[in-house]
Amino acid sequence: MPVNLLDFDAEGLTAWFAQQGEKPFRAKQVLRWVHQAGEGDFTRMTDIAKSLREKLLLTAAVSPAPTLSDRLSDDGTRKFLFDVGNGNAVETVFIPENDRGTLCVSSQAGCALECAFCSTGRQGFNRNLTTAEIIGQLWQANRLLGQSLAADKRGERIISNVVMMGMGEPLTNFDNLIPALRLMLDDHAYGLSRRRVTVSTAGIVPAMDRLADACPVALAVSLHAPNDALRDQLVPINRKYPLADLMAACQRYLKVAPRDFITFEYVMLDGINDREADARELLRLVRDVPCKLNLIPFNPFPNSGFKRSPRENVRRFAEILIEAGIVTTTRKTRGDDIDAACGQLAGQVLDRSRRTTAEKVVIPLKSMFQQAGVTQ
Ligand code: SF4
Repeated sequence: MPVNLLDFDAEGLTAWFAQQGEKPFRAKQVLRWVHQAGEGDFTRMTDIAKSLREKLLLTAAVSPAPTLSDRLSDDGTRKFLFDVGNGNAVETVFIPENDRGTLCVSSQAGCALECAFCSTGRQGFNRNLTTAEIIGQLWQANRLLGQSLAADKRGERIISNVVMMGMGEPLTNFDNLIPALRLMLDDHAYGLSRRRVTVSTAGIVPAMDRLADACPVALAVSLHAPNDALRDQLVPINRKYPLADLMAACQRYLKVAPRDFITFEYVMLDGINDREADARELLRLVRDVPCKLNLIPFNPFPNSGFKRSPRENVRRFAEILIEAGIVTTTRKTRGDDIDAACGQLAGQVLDRSRRTTAEKVVIPLKSMFQQAGVTQ
């Protein structure tokens, strides 16, 4: 079985080359060919000694997950579906904007965290992606986008930002994530600045500290609720790492973060977390953490059990935060027509969730509100 070179960051590739009796500079050359030039064919790596090319042909390969589909939305959003075997597929979304091109990358097939409003969480967990499958999404997207956009975008970097916000919780796939992040930052590979690579977490507190040590990139935290009682229901990992611990972890992360703020993501669910009182409670929660807030209109999916907040609720919620001095944005919904919007990354992963309907989520939420004397 040939070794997949996409599994190695620079350090790993140098070590593997050393095992083959090759010098470190050869590893750098190959790294540049594979990631900078997007080349997967060793015979075309023209400045590499012929003897090494022949050796690589026998022992190694550049094997990204095969592309199952490539769909373009009316708004320019592009969604790729990659086959990671055994009936599992993961999604990668490219979002072009005036001043940047962002690639949203998946870290797992499915997700174990079962956030109540999330289409991926509904499917249950299948497996962690390998480093090759994570970085392979960027490698493939660069090639696919380069092919179709080369005519009008020649010379420009099409993907300027990467967000680990696709399917899965990146920080529960830590060991495979870190080499992929290092490749994104490596000048011999993709050369992105730390500020342009974002890891999004639901709040795996010990892994946030490990990320700060191993590879501090920009951090987004999926908050979605202003208090533990509601967050326990919407983001069940909160029962293990409650908000006080999470806020303390954010403060620690900020000491090494490449940006001087944490981005908090907050999905707006009608009647659940979108009231003015929720906004005020949220303000109290985050007041000591330098942050930006990103409000995300919920993207409904079949049997979700939730509704998108009315536009007026979102506007009023944002207004309260902005008046208090918090930079607040409301995410534009992109790629609705190809199910590429946030929380719709369902793919075609085999459903291993024990949950079959939204009932189990909605009923506890309702009973919680009833216990609290809140009518929705
Ligand atoms: S929101 Fe993120 S962490 Fe939560 S279930 Fe979905 S993919 Fe997993």
